[in-house]
Amino acid sequence: MSANGHDGANRHIAVIGGGIIGCSAAVHLLRSGVRQVTIIDAGQPGAATTGAGAGFVSHWSAGMIPLGEEGFQLQQYGLDFYRRLHEVGVEIGYRPNGTLIMALTEDGRDRFVRPVLESPHAPAEMQDLNAVQIGQRMQGLIDPARVHSAAYNPHGIQVDTSLAMKVLTGQISELGGVFRNGTRVTAIHDAGDRVTIETDKGRVEADGAIAAAGAWNNQVISGLGWQLPLLRVVATRIVTDDRGLPSTIPTVQCRELRLWLRETFGAVMWGTGRHYKPLYKTADSEIEPGQPHNTELMRETFDEELAELQAIFPPLRGSKLASWAQGVPCYTPDNGLVVGKVPGSGNVVVAGGDNESGVTHGPGLGRLASELVLGQQPFVAPARFRVERYASDAFKSEAEVEAAMPAWGARHEASRFGRSA
Ligand SMILES: Cc1cc2nc3c(=O)[nH]c(=O)nc-3n(C[C@H](O)[C@H](O)[C@H](O)COP(=O)(O)OP(=O)(O)OC[C@H]3O[C@@H](n4cnc5c(N)ncnc54)[C@H](O)[C@@H]3O)c2cc1C
Repeated sequence: MSANGHDGANRHIAVIGGGIIGCSAAVHLLRSGVRQVTIIDAGQPGAATTGAGAGFVSHWSAGMIPLGEEGFQLQQYGLDFYRRLHEVGVEIGYRPNGTLIMALTEDGRDRFVRPVLESPHAPAEMQDLNAVQIGQRMQGLIDPARVHSAAYNPHGIQVDTSLAMKVLTGQISELGGVFRNGTRVTAIHDAGDRVTIETDKGRVEADGAIAAAGAWNNQVISGLGWQLPLLRVVATRIVTDDRGLPSTIPTVQCRELRLWLRETFGAVMWGTGRHYKPLYKTADSEIEPGQPHNTELMRETFDEELAELQAIFPPLRGSKLASWAQGVPCYTPDNGLVVGKVPGSGNVVVAGGDNESGVTHGPGLGRLASELVLGQQPFVAPARFRVERYASDAFKSEAEVEAAMPAWGARHEASRFGRSA
């Protein structure tokens, strides 16, 4: 039974935001037997940050993101979720090729690879690769003479986020979910026995709501008197022309370069935190729901990184920019995810604080959001993700959130974003 006393079959739950988190919430609500599920999106589902995601999914609790056992369970849920989506038989770019966390130097190994290998969350199958083994596994994408060693997790996968969202939104429609696209939520009110959602196209009445509006979550929940400590960051994804690469190459991350890079349909997709920028430091301190289009940041990424990268990744030599996309992941002061009831509101759950890992954690966060709004037993203990771990007024600005974030790796002087760090 929910706080407002309806049984599941008669409830109407509204989901605000049709990214991976909101769509996962919707599909789980429908599978739980909720009669009416409305997904309200200001644009098109999957067309904001999710559509720009690079699609790396792995056990990040092992030495990468401080999310502990509960995070690990969400990661495993994400891996299983995309495998099942792939098994539908429609191409979602699912490649179960593993994840490589690579070091260029002995120092890099100590700082970034050892914590992965030695993590209590490292699966038993995690492997410690030397440079020659990296070269073999990467099939020409990496020059082994330029690298030191890596932790290889064979359970890691990659997906194409846009293709995966097409299949997921199709499943939601088949289950009876209703999309209201191009409809912007302007306020939510929780009267205790019902939730009223104001939009630019009229009012929606529901028994409960899930706010999964990504970088716009604070705007959506502001009327409920609560704010999350979110640092919104513009992140760029570059895709080269077809380099003829095989589809069996693992994804790779190199924290010394703050780089992520993978094969995608024969091409290379890559990005680096050295050219991510907090939104408040860009010319647009606000942004409409959707994707940013900051050409300057894209050009800076491409022009400043390529020379260094092509020495390590030979297929980048002579590569051309085929496409690019940007999204706005939201970082939190403890790098922790957020899902739970908005304090003071019994019928509204908010899910977000993705820390640029929402493709991985979104399936599990969406399931948790659905369970919490329905008053069901959560499949993962939700306490570490709770909304009220920071007071609503704990941070006065996004600059304060940024200052409170953990330093990058073990180097405490290094800040998180920007090349000079
Ligand atoms: C370049 C890049 C690479 C990334 N790589 C990875 C990766 O490899 N692995 C990984 O796990 N994660 C990755 N991420 C992070 C991941 O993409 C995000 O964490 C995830 O997509 C966030 O999903 P979301 O559902 O919270 O947000 P979104 O996808 O942004 O969805 C929110 C939705 O809410 C809607 N909305 C906003 N405001 C309103 C409103 N007022 N009314 C109605 N609707 C509204 C928007 O239109 C949008 O569709 C990457 C992100 C980027 C940008």
